[in-house]
Amino acid sequence: MSRPAIAHIRLDAFRHNYRVAKQLHGGKSLAVIKANGYGHGAVQCAQAIANEADGFAVACLEEALQLRQAGIKNPILLLEGFFEVAELPEIVTNDLWIVVHAQWQVEILLAAKLAKPLYIWLKMDSGMHRVGLPPADYPLALMRLSGHVSVEKIVAMSHFANADNLSSEHTKQQIALFQQTIKGLETADISLANSAAILGWSQAKASWSRPGIMLYGADPLMTAATKLRPVMQLNSKIISIRHIKKGESIGYGSIFTAERDTVVGVVACGYADGYPRAATDASAAVDGVMTHLIGRVSMDMLFVDLTDIPQAKIGSNVELWGDQVLANDVAKAAGTIAYELFCNTKRVQFKYSDN
Ligand SMILES: *Cc1c(COP(=O)(O)O)cnc(C)c1O
Repeated sequence: MSRPAIAHIRLDAFRHNYRVAKQLHGGKSLAVIKANGYGHGAVQCAQAIANEADGFAVACLEEALQLRQAGIKNPILLLEGFFEVAELPEIVTNDLWIVVHAQWQVEILLAAKLAKPLYIWLKMDSGMHRVGLPPADYPLALMRLSGHVSVEKIVAMSHFANADNLSSEHTKQQIALFQQTIKGLETADISLANSAAILGWSQAKASWSRPGIMLYGADPLMTAATKLRPVMQLNSKIISIRHIKKGESIGYGSIFTAERDTVVGVVACGYADGYPRAATDASAAVDGVMTHLIGRVSMDMLFVDLTDIPQAKIGSNVELWGDQVLANDVAKAAGTIAYELFCNTKRVQFKYSDN
């Protein structure tokens, strides 16, 4: 038997979540599949919705070319646009859309001699202060780019810093500043909402949405009632069972000491697979029964408490996250977010299904 650590990727759930996102927001929807589809496999995710997706968004040219080489014909947006002018010919040849987020990019475009004009998403920094043109510079940039020979079409966009906080004043200010800045300007298309805004901020509705994490079935608002279906199920198996006496400890650092005689299951999954080392007391499900980790997560193995699961045996299935154990909850136990867990999942076998 080969190592039983497996990430099952349910592409039907991915497709379902795309439809949920698109329906909730209305208009068109770019599926964000940067960073290898948040660790799920960008090509497989793209292929699963290629015949219905309005487009895809990735972080860079290399990620877009991987999709083009796999035969993806849908629009693909580069979320940071170009990093240097030398990328422009390939961007044009491969029919890619670009975010324009900085004045230096505006100037390059205005001076460029392109084989074909580009579809651009002009980004405003409405308060996140990461990338985007300051509101004071935005109208002039938009006017100079509109109708320019390098430009086919412009979508006005911005991104929220706190959309996952439903009572955020900051998000309200971002929306107000964006709307005030584009007032009176010619902008047919607008895009503001990431997953959290699609789920929680109806004021951010516009012609385009940009869902990411919700497509993978993790709700960034952590609400209980959700129509989203988890896409990744990270499973492994019990490879050894130990009986330790009250007072004995297990694992590195002996951080767990048994308060009663304890049955310990050793599971073939560790931090080298992307399971977060900090999640020392996260939940896990053994053959469908909920239990929790004990002791320290090591590189290739972790421990679960089997004391109250007498039917567990070597070979029992362990869900580390997926349907019974939410990735959000494991992330919380580790002081991080599901995004990071998904992106870090590695070494395990990836198995795809589409029902
Ligand atoms: C990653 C990203 C998204 C998707 O965000 P989620 O929180 O995963 O929905 C949307 N827009 C931009 C600009 C991004 O970088």
